[in-house]
Amino acid sequence: MLSRFPIPDSRFPMQPIRFVLVRTSHPGNIGAAARAIRTMGFTRLVLVAPHKYPHAEATAMAAGADDVLENIVVVPTLADAIADCRFVLGCTARRRGVSLPEIAPREAAARVREVPGEVAVVFGNERTGLENDELMRCQVAVHIPADPTYSSLNLAQAVQVLAYELRLAQLEAQPPDDAGPKSDPPATAEQMEYFFGHLFQTLGDIDFHKGRSPVTIEKRLRRLFAHANLDQREVRILRGIFDDAQRMARMAKGR
Ligand code: SAH
Repeated sequence: MLSRFPIPDSRFPMQPIRFVLVRTSHPGNIGAAARAIRTMGFTRLVLVAPHKYPHAEATAMAAGADDVLENIVVVPTLADAIADCRFVLGCTARRRGVSLPEIAPREAAARVREVPGEVAVVFGNERTGLENDELMRCQVAVHIPADPTYSSLNLAQAVQVLAYELRLAQLEAQPPDDAGPKSDPPATAEQMEYFFGHLFQTLGDIDFHKGRSPVTIEKRLRRLFAHANLDQREVRILRGIFDDAQRMARMAKGR
């Protein structure tokens, strides 16, 4: 049933992560949670026995995150919501008498990245949180390290924090947009020595040093190109430029 969720942006495939709200009292929180996950590129919200849903307040608070609302799945128990999941994280505002490893959202997001299949992030009721038997169904407890004297976030805001961390972790896993064409193999040490020989020769040909010692500038240029980690194609491009500069210098000298 849950596999009918759409993926919103095919250019940016997100991991199959569902956000599960258990026994939510306020429909406004459902809408706000829908908006929170949609802004972070997720669309899958599952409600376990919500007190009031559908509801006009949910629609209003979703503020146009209609694709999330349309795809909401309502199930009677937490077991139904997570049956096919490989990794289940339970979010708690305070420590419970359950011996689960407790981690912060950032570590949780890093762990999620390693999971090859479906993931559920579970949130409790506004007043009572997750019951112990619900937490027992999770592999880890996630706690947002809030002020210990006032540690309980609004439900939708807790959803936002988790969704944000999950998105950051997903973005890190993507190759950057501007990666461009695949780069060539890195230049070898020998190619770099020919490159530097050519560069320094060119600097002489265009009279860059004007009588000063070339030693310091040559050291700096070596350091600069060491940072650049040039690949073989980039070395060819730069040496093409040196060839032209040398040709122009010869022409200028009338040779
Ligand atoms: N009085 C409840 C608070 C529930 S707040 C309790 O003490 O558990 C509703 C839900 O938001 C929680 O069940 C939890 O899933 C999430 N939440 C709120 N604050 C959180 C925090 N600091 N860390 C992790 N999840 C939190």
